[in-house]
Amino acid sequence: MPTDNISGILIYVQKNREGYIHTVFFELLNKAKELSQKLGGVDVSAVVFTLPGQIDGYREAFMNMGVDKVYYFEDESFGVYNTEIYSRNIEELVREIQPEIMLIGATNEGRDLAPRVAGALATGLTADCTGLDINENGQLAATRPTFGGQLMATILCKNYPQMATVRPNVFKVNPVNNYSQTEFFKREARFFEYKNRVEILEFKKTVESVINELDSAEIIVAGGRGLKNEAGFKLLKQFADKIGASVAATRVAVEMGLAPQSIQIGQTGKTVAPKIYIACAISGAIQHTVGMENSKHIIAINSDENAPIFDIADTGIVGDFFEIIPEFLKIG
Ligand SMILES: Cc1cc2nc3c(=O)[nH]c(=O)nc-3n(C[C@H](O)[C@H](O)[C@H](O)COP(=O)(O)OP(=O)(O)OC[C@H]3O[C@@H](n4cnc5c(N)ncnc54)[C@H](O)[C@@H]3O)c2cc1C
Repeated sequence: MPTDNISGILIYVQKNREGYIHTVFFELLNKAKELSQKLGGVDVSAVVFTLPGQIDGYREAFMNMGVDKVYYFEDESFGVYNTEIYSRNIEELVREIQPEIMLIGATNEGRDLAPRVAGALATGLTADCTGLDINENGQLAATRPTFGGQLMATILCKNYPQMATVRPNVFKVNPVNNYSQTEFFKREARFFEYKNRVEILEFKKTVESVINELDSAEIIVAGGRGLKNEAGFKLLKQFADKIGASVAATRVAVEMGLAPQSIQIGQTGKTVAPKIYIACAISGAIQHTVGMENSKHIIAINSDENAPIFDIADTGIVGDFFEIIPEFLKIG
């Protein structure tokens, strides 16, 4: 990519099939606004693929949240993500508008899209970042855990755009509006030879998509080593079903074979920020709490009154999980 006129931050807007914008976009937007200030107030732009006319439903959100420019591609097929078409069109857009930074949510879709775009543009991509900043040379300083979570590495990219993906719930959405006179640019989508190469037959809910519900779960009940065995996790699941919660686990519980790695919360697992996080028989090791400390209300159930989890809990219940939960389940 030519290196003159490189400026601004571009963010990919992920939508779900119902047409809602994924909150990771708003989280990235909030962080991008902060980075933009450090870069002297460069434009923060968004790229989105929409059904015909669908952009009208998004205009207000983009304006209220302070997006400077929105580039949108319209087509009847854009209700559903398409790797090849999206990545090729983004590649062309990036070559033309030359952003210095491009951010993508580290969702399943973003993890598919980002490397394709980075590969096509021959630039670097730092995946699953936990922190983004601008260094003294004006470069994107992308931080992420490495060596199995034992070290935090800050990675710089020599080429443009400097690309990064960030998991949902790592950054916060700006709670207040940040109104901007957003400019909207309709782009002609190009289909190359790809339009009919992929045919979507049906969508099925898989274990992975259930797991991804953790990203947007309002209530999570998480289990640790103190649940001891499968019966403990079964009880945790009954508890979760009763209160409409999603289930998560600590790394130790995963290592004990009680839960899949994909629902592990923490430094080497997922980052979540539900309204309520109920930590059951979890000690509260830092490697776990970094993945859930942004939860709005933390409830801890632990038999050890000195367990560190109580230091960050809003509500603490000292007691035996195997006594408390069965009693709770008896209630109506
Ligand atoms: C590089 C690295 C990365 C890591 N990444 C992660 C990560 O991503 N996520 C993660 O979770 N961990 C991670 N860990 C592991 C972390 O350090 C802790 O070992 C782990 O979080 C502890 O899990 P736990 O709370 O389930 O178990 P423990 O620390 O053993 O705690 C069990 C708790 O259960 C309580 N308990 C026991 N029985 C009962 C009962 N009947 N009722 C109520 N309470 C009871 C005990 O009092 C105790 O507090 C990582 C470690 C390293 C070194």
